[in-house]
This record gives sequence, structure tokens and C-alpha cells, in this order.
Amino acid sequence: MSAPYKPKEDFDRLLREVHEIGKSVLRVHAADVDAKARFPEESINAMREARLLSAYVPEEYGGMGLNVAQVGKICEVLGQYCGSSAMIYAMHKIQVACVVHHVQDSEYFRNYLRELVADQRLMASATTEIGTGGDLRSSVCAVEIDGETFSLTKKAPVISYGEHADEILVTCRRAPDAPANEQVHVMVRKGEYTAVPLSNWDTMGFRGTCSSGFELTSSGHVQQILPGPFSDILGQTMHPYSHIVWGSLWSGIAMDAVNNARAFVRAEARKTPGETPISAIRLAEADKVLQEMRHNVTALAREYDELRSRNCASAFEEFGFSIRTNNLKLSCSQLLVDIVGRAMLICGISGYRNDSKFSLARHLRDAYGAALMVNNDRILKLNATMLMVHKGE
Ligand SMILES: Cc1cc2nc3c(=O)[nH]c(=O)nc-3n(C[C@H](O)[C@H](O)[C@H](O)COP(=O)(O)OP(=O)(O)OC[C@H]3O[C@@H](n4cnc5c(N)ncnc54)[C@H](O)[C@@H]3O)c2cc1C
Repeated sequence: MSAPYKPKEDFDRLLREVHEIGKSVLRVHAADVDAKARFPEESINAMREARLLSAYVPEEYGGMGLNVAQVGKICEVLGQYCGSSAMIYAMHKIQVACVVHHVQDSEYFRNYLRELVADQRLMASATTEIGTGGDLRSSVCAVEIDGETFSLTKKAPVISYGEHADEILVTCRRAPDAPANEQVHVMVRKGEYTAVPLSNWDTMGFRGTCSSGFELTSSGHVQQILPGPFSDILGQTMHPYSHIVWGSLWSGIAMDAVNNARAFVRAEARKTPGETPISAIRLAEADKVLQEMRHNVTALAREYDELRSRNCASAFEEFGFSIRTNNLKLSCSQLLVDIVGRAMLICGISGYRNDSKFSLARHLRDAYGAALMVNNDRILKLNATMLMVHKGE
């Protein structure tokens, strides 16, 4: 009898499985998900069946115990088939990482991780708020504690797959009299909150993320409040992890665009045997930029895994690491638009059409969302401020 398959050790085999899911499920439904701006239920169910929702949960709780570089590779593969499904997976993974990194001391959250593995639960995030916009480091709403119970109401203009999530991690002030930047992270659970719709989600891209706005009114046990300040969770986990997994799935979208362009160039080349079409030169250029994009993501993912394995939380507070993380987000979000644009030039009208097998319309619409997910200008301004005092490496 052969030894049981361990995804962490035989990671290539796991990636092949993810490609299979991508081809047989994500790609099949991607156009319909996009056209109807509907939740990609088939994709998420297939990921559940493959136990991918607990890929980052340590093995001691029954998860795969993958590192962020490996989770990033899964996001990259998923991104090649359906940007919205890949984005949902990446956003779920960011929330899982917040729990895995910050609350393994809590019996409540250790049990939660076991539940997440057993039921393949899906976690969403509510950081953006009416009144603070995309400023992650300030909240209007506050958690109120009464004995063992908390209550929390947040007006969230964007919660991706909010209606389909089992849990939502919500940022808020730690108390009604706390300043806007003294925040905690609270896990609210299905059945313990009501969500009154504030807005729908009819956007240019990432339409399947179903990121409508809601007023969330929740209550629960105080153990659901992650101990420690949210600023630590953001600096050590949410900030670097988000930009790595987002950069990874954006790379996947860019790879698919370049693959479309490659198929188009091959078809052109067959028409004039012996001649290299001009579009092949453009393809070579696009491929070079794609390689740079992917290398940037891999380098930061490795650096992050390495820092985590050395258990040096203080490294995440250093300006150098934060600036590099921000630079990764800035460059990946810009390169995605650049690469899809290059692929469009190669495919010409066939890429521009909605009804062509070379269509790049969805890729391009998704691509423009990347710069807005934490607005690039906000990030540039933060880097500008840090660079004024950072002495360099
Ligand atoms: C596909 C998608 C899914 C998302 N999913 C979620 C989710 O699940 N949960 C969630 O909480 N959020 C989510 N978001 C929200 C997102 O991450 C942003 O935080 C949010 O879109 C910001 O909204 P905004 O652009 O209106 O606001 P802002 O970020 O406030 O930007 C508005 C404008 O103000 C400018 N600006 C404001 N303040 C500054 C500043 N200090 N420095 C420089 N410029 C500034 C910006 O440059 C920009 O021009 C999602 C967004 C997208 C696109």
C-alpha cells in the first residue's frame, strides 16, 4: 500500500489537483459568474471538497499546514481560471492567517480552527467603514462589552461574499470611549448577526466577489474578540499576507492573459509558416514583464515565511519590510493592467470582443480593481512618509 498523500510534502501534486479544479469548475462557470455578478458557488464547493479552505491551518488541527508561499501558488493557479473565485479564496486565507498567527493561545480559537477544518468554513472581512473609507487604521464603530457578551454594529460599504460567509472578522474601536485608532478585531458568526443591505455590487470587475455593503449588527461571547491590538494583527499578518496573496492571484490573471496571447500568436504563425509574426515580439515583451511580476511576489512570500519561521515579530515593524510590502502591491496592481493591455494589443479585436475565445474583457475589468483594494495613493503616501525617516538597508 502506498503512503498517504501529504499535500505539504507533495505540493506539486496538490497544485496539479488545483489546476484540475480550475479547468473543470472555475473556468466553466467564470463567464456566468461574471455576467450575473453571482457568487461562484461551484468553485467554492470544489475548493471545500479538496479541503483547500484549511490549507493554511496547521496540521495539528487537521489542516494542510502550508506556508504563505504555497498558499500564494494556489491563488496564482486559481487566478488563471476565475479572478473572482481566486479573490474570494485569497481573502478567506487572509482571515485564516489572522486567527492562525494571533490566537492559538485561545482555547476558543483552537476549537474554531478544528471546526473550520471539519466544516470547511468560509471567513470574510469587514475593515472598510462608512466614515473612514479605506483607512484600515481607524474605526467609527466600537465593540461594547457587558459581562461575557459583546455587541457591535458596523456600517460596512463593502464586504466581499458577506452573504455567503460563515464568519466575518470585523475591525472596530476597543470601547465606545476609545480613540479611532485603538482597534480590535472581532469574529462575528453566522446566526449571531443580522445584515441589513446598504448597497449592491454591480461593478466593473471582480463581480463574483459579491462585495455588497451591509449594516452588521452582531453579538457574541467576549472570547470572539481577538486578544491584543488590531495594529499588531495588521502589521504582522494582514498587511503582508494580503499583498502576497493578492499579488499571487493577480499574477494568475496576468498569466491567463499571456496564455491567451500566446495561443493567438501561435494561430497567426500557422498562417504564415517560416515567418515570426510581429505579435511574437510583443509576446516576448509581455512574458518578460510577467516573469518580473511573479518573481516579486515569490521573493516577498519567501522573505515573509522566513521571518515568520525565525519568529521575529519585530521585523514586521521595520520600515524596510513595510515599504517592500507596499511596493509589491503597488507594482503588482500596475503590472496586471500593463500585462493585460499588452495581451490585448497582441490579440487585437479578438481580445477586445466579449464573444471570442481570446477575449480579455474580464481580465481587464478585474485588473482595474487591483489598484483600488486599499487605494494605491494611500499606500504611496504611507511609503512617502516612511521613506522620509527610513535610513535604508
Ligand atoms: C474587489 C474588491 C473587494 C473588496 N472587498 C472588501 C472586503 O471584503 N472588506 C472590506 O472591508 N473592504 C473591501 N474592499 C474595499 C477596499 O479594500 C477599499 O478599502 C475600499 O474600496 C476603499 O474605498 P474608496 O476607494 O471609496 O476609499 P478610499 O480608500 O478612502 O479612497 C478614496 C479616494 O480618497 C483618496 N484618499 C483618501 N485618503 C487618503 C490618504 N490618506 N492618502 C492618500 N489618498 C487618500 C484616495 O486616493 C482615493 O482617491 C474591496 C474592494 C474591492 C475593489
